[in-house]
Amino acid sequence: MTRTVCIGECMIEMAPTDITGQFQMGFAGDTMNTAWYLRGLLGAEHQVDYFTALGGDSASRQMLAFLRQAGLGVDHIVQRNDRSVGLYLIQLDNGERSFSYWRGQSAARTLAQDNTVLEAVLKDADYAYFSGITLAILPPQDRAHLRDALVALRARGGQIVFDPNLRPALWSDPQEMRDEIMASAAISTMVMPSHEDEATWFNDRAPEATAWRYAAAGAQTVVVKNGAGAMFTCDGGHGAWHDPVAVKDVVDTTAAGDSFNAGFLAAAIRSAPLSEAVRSGAQLASKVIQSRGALVALS
Ligand code: ADP
Repeated sequence: MTRTVCIGECMIEMAPTDITGQFQMGFAGDTMNTAWYLRGLLGAEHQVDYFTALGGDSASRQMLAFLRQAGLGVDHIVQRNDRSVGLYLIQLDNGERSFSYWRGQSAARTLAQDNTVLEAVLKDADYAYFSGITLAILPPQDRAHLRDALVALRARGGQIVFDPNLRPALWSDPQEMRDEIMASAAISTMVMPSHEDEATWFNDRAPEATAWRYAAAGAQTVVVKNGAGAMFTCDGGHGAWHDPVAVKDVVDTTAAGDSFNAGFLAAAIRSAPLSEAVRSGAQLASKVIQSRGALVALS
């Protein structure tokens, strides 16, 4: 029996349908996608909670019902009656997807306002999972609250799992993003970056450079995702390459990294060896990118 808490923002997704001008409402968000897959992969003896803040309106109630229905623990979710949830719209332009976001005032931005709430959420957790997007939406002092609570969990023997998920558009400047990401990696036990993003923003020449940079910052295990290429891990100072799972027909790469993380983490929670956990992550991601949408049914 383990308890994992995923922390971040879930948004309303409006995705185009086959009928021009009509959209379908769904729910998605990087940390929520990982929680959703983790819930599907782990047996009932493992608890998976989602922690965020929602509004008091009907859209927030629908989101809460969705999370509960997915089997996620929602007991600690905070309600802010003066706010609502974020929303994004996907549009297709000659087959290319473009995204518009309305999330500046979302309730999730307040999720780390209160230290005592964070302590209660993480009290009995074995794993906490968060991302660079979780950090980016928080005011600076709340990022410090969140890190303090995670440091306390690590001191109790908990695993802190972090996906840097670099999104410069959410940060006031790239240097702030780099500093906050490195400070968060330093308190994490597992860091799960994507090499392509890291190469752009940290000038890493190869996946090994990404891995060793995070290891030097203090992460025990680093798993570097790498699109269709070979992945690289370092674990307690030991580096290794892992072959990718070949995919013939890539349909939609949305949530490739989020689902990889869930496949990896589910295996790690079951105490699988690192190479098996990487294979399990890559297998789930390969399935997810062969279908449309962020949340692909597992059966
Ligand atoms: P992100 O989606 O976060 O940018 P990546 O593009 O690195 O991350 O993809 C995450 C993981 O998804 C990869 O490590 C790999 O396992 C899988 N993946 C993504 N694209 C492909 C592909 N074209 N072929 C096979 N696997 C892929």
